Amino acid sequence: MPQIGEIRQGREIGYKNDGKNIWQACELCGKERWVPLVKGIPAYKICNEEHIFQNTKIRSKEQGKRWSRENPERRRELNHKCWRNVKEEVITHYGNGKCACIKCGFADIRALSIDHINGGGSIHRHDIKRGGTSLYIWLRKNKYPEGFQTLCMNCQFIKRAENKECVGKNKKEK
Ligand SMILES: [Zn+2]
Ligand SMILES: [Zn+2]
Repeated sequence: MPQIGEIRQGREIGYKNDGKNIWQACELCGKERWVPLVKGIPAYKICNEEHIFQNTKIRSKEQGKRWSRENPERRRELNHKCWRNVKEEVITHYGNGKCACIKCGFADIRALSIDHINGGGSIHRHDIKRGGTSLYIWLRKNKYPEGFQTLCMNCQFIKRAENKECVGKNKKEK
């Protein structure tokens, strides 16, 4: 498998286009695939078609394109669902098998996120950003490394206050 960020000519990878393609992960579901580069920028960030194929009876690219033009709202919903699946999986893993905060048990996924147990989130996040993937996708792809936990927003803010962690302040000190 190519590495994230690898660039190849269309012909080298069996594509009809002559331009360059970059190997990237879908920002919503993490699926890795070749994406054409347009003026040095990946043409799309998410694998729209895959999401349609997985969730509808549509099986052809042409139909998929037409469907997404005609159903912008359904498409948005689908993409959101794909993203939620990934988030839920990661949150549940780091919630010790529950889709809930490990400190207080709060279970609304909208207010749950992944916390770096020993802080230092900003450095790590920077590393991840370079690969063009979100923390959730990165964690799943890297087989759930240790050092993370699921916390709700409240518990994260409390933890930060207790550790005197402050994003702005941290930056200056380093
Ligand atoms: Zn995707
Ligand atoms: Zn909590």
